[in-house]
Amino acid sequence: MRIEDDSKLDYRDVLIRPKRSTLGSRKDVELEREFKFRNYRSDSAEHYRGIPIMASNMDGVGTFAMADALAAMGLFTCLIKNYDADELAGFFRDGRASRRENVAYSTGITEQDYDKFEAVHKRTGSNLKYVCVDVANGYSERFSDFIKQLREAYPHIVIIAGNVVTGEMTEELMLSGADIVKVGIGPGSVCTTRIQTGVGFPQLSAVIECADAAHGLGGHIIADGGCTCPGDLAKAFAAGADFVMLGGMLAGHDEGGGEIITRYYKTGEVKRTENGWEDQIEERKFVSFYGMSSKAANEKHFGGLKEYRSSEGREILVPYRGKIDNTIQDLLGGVRSTCTYAGAKKLKWLSKCTTFVKTGQQYNSVFADK
Ligand code: 5GP
Repeated sequence: MRIEDDSKLDYRDVLIRPKRSTLGSRKDVELEREFKFRNYRSDSAEHYRGIPIMASNMDGVGTFAMADALAAMGLFTCLIKNYDADELAGFFRDGRASRRENVAYSTGITEQDYDKFEAVHKRTGSNLKYVCVDVANGYSERFSDFIKQLREAYPHIVIIAGNVVTGEMTEELMLSGADIVKVGIGPGSVCTTRIQTGVGFPQLSAVIECADAAHGLGGHIIADGGCTCPGDLAKAFAAGADFVMLGGMLAGHDEGGGEIITRYYKTGEVKRTENGWEDQIEERKFVSFYGMSSKAANEKHFGGLKEYRSSEGREILVPYRGKIDNTIQDLLGGVRSTCTYAGAKKLKWLSKCTTFVKTGQQYNSVFADK
């Protein structure tokens, strides 16, 4: 047994120090980024252009409707794994550039997963550009082998691979053929891995260390999970993330397709009516949101939990929030504002412009009641 002594940080443990800046207004901040990927073979000079915020491949988030709505605003979506081959082929074959450039097919690493991907790819051809190979634990040899196999067979696909939290495994995945490594074990809003297994890594430090490793090899990373407010998103970019992936912050919207659940609560006020004093009742709307390895997800997609597995996710009700557009405007407004405080005219420069200050105590975000 060994103990690492240097302290590792979560988003809530730091703030970004404001700096003198020549930026006039948030409007002047450029959020769009351009990337050239490490292993993807393509003749085009630029491989990606967009606002590097991603919807997670979770039920209620990574849906076709979400993908189209976010793509229209320049954002990215990793689709849920549970669409069948016909649905996926239909979606990508449509041929819209926004789907090719802003949406990833998500897959696990079983033989059936590989066969399904092959079948869809055959029917979609180059309209399918991104594949997100997503497992809870990216440290297995089988996972790296799967990435190698996929890279050999598909040089013209951008491969996203995860999840890991350390520099050496980020490097290993890049050398196996991944273009973008997904970083985060345990920080998710409906994840219980830290409780169930004791495994994890404080997310801000994971992002800093993995970004450093990836950038050294000309690769890119996604900070996946743990963002509870626009400020956390900005901290992830400031820590070196090329993309930030969101689950809970994008849940509860029309595009997620979940059933709206109505609950009635006493407001605490009473009013006199002709029947006497009556409690005032207010109606609130919610949508169910659950982790993809929760009991709820396993029941929905696999007919229950396998007996040797325990659930590493939970189910919660999140407030219903209508259309996604307003939420995205709020998010982007927050990140733009961070850039003006830090003196970064482009999101690209935010990391270089950032000095984090440790708060010394857990910073109580108003959104931290998850
Ligand atoms: P959030 O943005 O909600 O904090 O985190 C989203 C991320 O949580 C997802 O992209 C995924 O990496 C992770 N996640 C989703 N479902 C589960 C789950 O059931 N268990 C665990 N451990 N992580 C999950």
